[in-house]
Amino acid sequence: MEKSRRKFIRNAALLTVAGAGLRLVGTQAFADSPQDDSGFLFKLPALPYGAAALEPYIDTQTMEIHHGKHHKAYVDNLNKALKGSGLTSDSLEDLMKNISKYSVAIRNNGGGHYNHSLFWKLMKPAGGGNPDGQIAEAINNSFGSFKIMQEQFNAAATTRFGSGWAWLIADKGKLTITSTANQDNPLMDIAEVKGTPLLALDVWEHAYYLKYQNKRADYVNAFWNVVNWEHVNSLLKAVK
Ligand code: MN
Repeated sequence: MEKSRRKFIRNAALLTVAGAGLRLVGTQAFADSPQDDSGFLFKLPALPYGAAALEPYIDTQTMEIHHGKHHKAYVDNLNKALKGSGLTSDSLEDLMKNISKYSVAIRNNGGGHYNHSLFWKLMKPAGGGNPDGQIAEAINNSFGSFKIMQEQFNAAATTRFGSGWAWLIADKGKLTITSTANQDNPLMDIAEVKGTPLLALDVWEHAYYLKYQNKRADYVNAFWNVVNWEHVNSLLKAVK
């Protein structure tokens, strides 16, 4: 009896080890799979707040679909497009800066992943108000006032025809407003106006249509209530 119990425990332990081994082999097989010769996969980042946190300015359902469906699709399709591309860099920023060398699928989905990852962090509940610190000074130096910068940003966001993004960027010590089509961004080597993104607004209809329908200007105005100026300041500090 005692002998068979010991045997049972020993076999159970071996099964546990075998199970752990299988899991390990499984993980390695996934990472080394010939279908994944790019050597990495991008992942959908979690939202830095709950989907309802930006109410009433950005509604819960829009946040859930925008992050969980749209952003997820960019990540999944980027990973698909990267398979077999021979890409070895794991930096999304490097990818953006050399985007002219890659396919349209990598440009659209890589841009989509970069832009949305940035966009979520540029908002926060109980955000908005006037910028402070280094960014307030930089805005005054480049535009004359926060109000003038806001007017230019709003104009870029509302006049961008079709789908795209409005941007506040830094380039050679100066801040500028620009906009891009589709999922392009000012980091891309193909961008008409290049610079480091400091503030971004998604003006695709999927970003606002459920709550604002055709009233893009109302969505653009609402955005100023959720801007995360601390994050904008941290992006400005990192500009080389
Ligand atoms: Mn979007």
